[in-house]
Amino acid sequence: MSFSSLSNPELIKNSSFINGEWQQSQSNFDVFNPADQKSLGYVSEVTPEQLEKSINSAHAAQKEWRDKTVDERSAILRKWYDLILANQNDLASIMTAEQGKPRKEALGEVVYGAKYIEWYAEEAKRINGDYLPVNQNGRRALVLRRPVGVVTSITPWNFPGAMILRKAAPALAAGCTFIVKPSELTPYSALALAQLSAEAGIPAGVFNVVVGSNAQPIGEVLTTHPKVSKFSFTGSTQVGKKLLSQCASTVKKTSMELGGNAPFIAFEDADLDVAVKGAMGSKFRNAGQTCVCANRLFVHRDIHDEFVAKLKTKVEELKVGEGNQEGTNVGPLIDEKAIAKVEQLVAQAIETGAQIITGAGRSEAGQQFYLPTILTDVTPEMDIFNSEIFGPVASIISFESEEEVIKLANQTEYGLCSYAFTQNMNRVFRLTEQLEFGMLGINEGVLSNPAAPFGGVKESGMGREGGRWGIDDYLETKYVCIGDVK
Ligand code: NAP
Repeated sequence: MSFSSLSNPELIKNSSFINGEWQQSQSNFDVFNPADQKSLGYVSEVTPEQLEKSINSAHAAQKEWRDKTVDERSAILRKWYDLILANQNDLASIMTAEQGKPRKEALGEVVYGAKYIEWYAEEAKRINGDYLPVNQNGRRALVLRRPVGVVTSITPWNFPGAMILRKAAPALAAGCTFIVKPSELTPYSALALAQLSAEAGIPAGVFNVVVGSNAQPIGEVLTTHPKVSKFSFTGSTQVGKKLLSQCASTVKKTSMELGGNAPFIAFEDADLDVAVKGAMGSKFRNAGQTCVCANRLFVHRDIHDEFVAKLKTKVEELKVGEGNQEGTNVGPLIDEKAIAKVEQLVAQAIETGAQIITGAGRSEAGQQFYLPTILTDVTPEMDIFNSEIFGPVASIISFESEEEVIKLANQTEYGLCSYAFTQNMNRVFRLTEQLEFGMLGINEGVLSNPAAPFGGVKESGMGREGGRWGIDDYLETKYVCIGDVK
């Protein structure tokens, strides 16, 4: 795959986008296609001076952006949305090339991310205040909701477009300006979005992308600079904790979308076909590299064997391959480190008693492709039970009672997403109250929706992306008391 076949070659940019300009530097880093490990091209490293400039220009641009009428902000965002949709095929090609996901999923992500812009272009019109009762005559009490200011963010490689747009759309709608550092592994999708932001008429300084291969010093500036009011992170819990502590030095508002260890529970009364469909959707999308992937599949012992047999049939139908090949369902893992980690988790599980139903090894499709795998007899003592697998491995644990499975499901420091399959409405209500996760899918394996609050509890983070909750994260609440009113 090269970028030469794009309809709009203007989407390929190779440097940071700061204050409406492309900023080259003396030093570059390569970006690789995970399907064949070949270089797709190189990108300029952001310099410390350019990084400083990105914050200063975002700070300077914020007043004018904030003071635009809501109709103006909304119309510009809507134009950005239209341009993303108009360029969706090229954006999907860029994404598949640098991230590896199958083309159909890449197209899905482009549209999904764009939908956040469409949604928040409308929600901008509903940033309402309040007029409160007062405790003394001659007083009036107002509550205003104001944009927080300059927002910085760091995003991961697994959703190179949508993780940026889920933050940028509400931030810009609220009247904030925005700087993102995408993963060094997937900068091209972010830079293409920047190009389209400029074409949409988003003013200079309002949406900026800084790219670099050394995340630590860039993150240091984005989390500590005094002109930055808010930092929003999507990535691992380990890195999130570090960045959160850096934000403490200037008491920044923060949003943290961190790791997950989702339980998937199929009860004895589940519709088996619906449960298997849910497992396929939540486990194997993006080759198992999503924060909401079913990580531990708890299956009631009465349906265990039938569930495993049905799942095996579906899993063995999955086609592993390069994302642009017709019919590909499972692409490569992002890098050698990622596939080595999956191999290690599977090996340790097998050594300690897990059974291989299918897969468990690298695919012939290439160096970084892992076979869709099912393991049974997984136990809470195994590393695979306690770690985010981030690969196409379904690990199955048999259970006997609702009480037992709820306890096991909650036995993790993570609290992002959970899934349950049952026909019993009373049980559904018990699950909604007892599962300690920010999200719960009942008889459904794919939940995300721009109108809904995406986010986790416990060490999966804080804040929500999507819906009215998503814009709250970019607004301050200001109380105004007016006295001496005659
Ligand atoms: P990661 O290692 O935490 O990296 C995420 C981002 O942080 C990347 O841009 C990375 O840059 C940067 N980074 C790494 N170390 C840093 C440091 N010391 N200072 C500043 N920035 C640093 O996570 P990942 O492996 O890319 O992504 C997978 C993780 O993201 C999983 O845990 C997944 O569950 C989580 N995730 C969560 C959500 C959610 O909504 N909750 C959504 C998607 C993914 P480089 O890549 O350039 O090194």
